[in-house]
Amino acid sequence: MSDFSAVLPIYNRKQPSFAKGEGAYLYTDNGDKYLDFLSGIAVNALGHCHPHLVNTLTEQGSKLWHTSNVFAIDNATKLAERLCEATFADSVFFCNSGTEAIEAAVKITRRYFDYIGQPDKHKIITFDGAFHGRSTAAIAATGTAKALEGFEPRLQGFDKVKVENGIAAVEGAIDDKTAAILVEPIQGEGGIRPMPDGFLSDLRALCDKHGLLLILDEIQCGISRTGKFLAHEYCNVIPDICTIAKGIGGGFPLGATLVTAQVGECMTLGTHGTTFGGNPLATAVGNAVLDIVLADGFDSKVKQTGNLLKQRLEGLQQKYPSIIDEIRGCGLMLGIKIKDSYTNIDLINKLFDRKLIVNAAGSNVVRILPPLVIDESHINEACDIIDEALEEL
Ligand SMILES: *Cc1c(COP(=O)(O)O)cnc(C)c1O
Repeated sequence: MSDFSAVLPIYNRKQPSFAKGEGAYLYTDNGDKYLDFLSGIAVNALGHCHPHLVNTLTEQGSKLWHTSNVFAIDNATKLAERLCEATFADSVFFCNSGTEAIEAAVKITRRYFDYIGQPDKHKIITFDGAFHGRSTAAIAATGTAKALEGFEPRLQGFDKVKVENGIAAVEGAIDDKTAAILVEPIQGEGGIRPMPDGFLSDLRALCDKHGLLLILDEIQCGISRTGKFLAHEYCNVIPDICTIAKGIGGGFPLGATLVTAQVGECMTLGTHGTTFGGNPLATAVGNAVLDIVLADGFDSKVKQTGNLLKQRLEGLQQKYPSIIDEIRGCGLMLGIKIKDSYTNIDLINKLFDRKLIVNAAGSNVVRILPPLVIDESHINEACDIIDEALEEL
């Protein structure tokens, strides 16, 4: 056997490999306990092994896993209807990941303009700091040198604009081939970077003026992460397409592309597909996640908990003004922006040594994505650890 890693070494993986999870905690085999303020990157939205998800998974797991999209799938139909009921959407495509949801959004965009007799319109405007996934289309949409290096020629049709250059720069980038604008309401990988106030409604207005589709990527900021089921509800903007994944499966691989009826009409029989997407097992779990996050009071609790955590972090910013530049984000999607004379990684490693799990995002940010079900005791525990680590830094 060669000494090459049995799993492709595309990640710099930390030890330990965890053996068990419960609520906001992860455990190793030898009983070490970590407070998880990353939630598998916004995936374990209800924490680890939430009883309702475990019950749903085991019950469905002993009944039926997969039949294929050759057959009607009641769990998927129910999940789609509930997503439509809870959002702007009229129709849903299920898949298994964020990348696949983005891939579908790109295909639906191209197909839509072909369908309405404007086949030249295919270009999508995206933004600096964006992350949309790892497929050929998604890295072209992400558009960074790092994502594209070694993978040229890239998929054509993505134009990049800097958010800081404002809405005029976006309008300046529109030409007669532009089909859509794709944006994360709060950039995740880019460093927990909310779009400026009014930006999304300005984008909506531009889309209306120029006949473009507005695609919101809520793969990280969606599913009640910000204290609204979808983050764009904060600004009363209605997208044409919205991608979700991460939290909707609570740890089971599940993604979805939500569309309006107007846009969805172009996706006729056979125009797109998936073997696994929306299978009975995945959509049973998706429904179980919705049972909890759509319940009365859940979002307001997330908002409250998020405000408390943000306040506590802002307190630490005041205590360590030479290290912390800014606390940003919304709900339980928060970032500590570190000043240039320090690095986020150093702080993250110190936190990990003290058994608090967070991770790095772009522009020197410590990314904090706790399970949505944490309470004040978890916040106190985490903030005490962050305080100690900052002290040592
Ligand atoms: C994670 C993420 C993706 C990609 O999702 P995968 O499930 O990793 O393919 C796309 N967009 C955003 C905003 C993300 O956070």
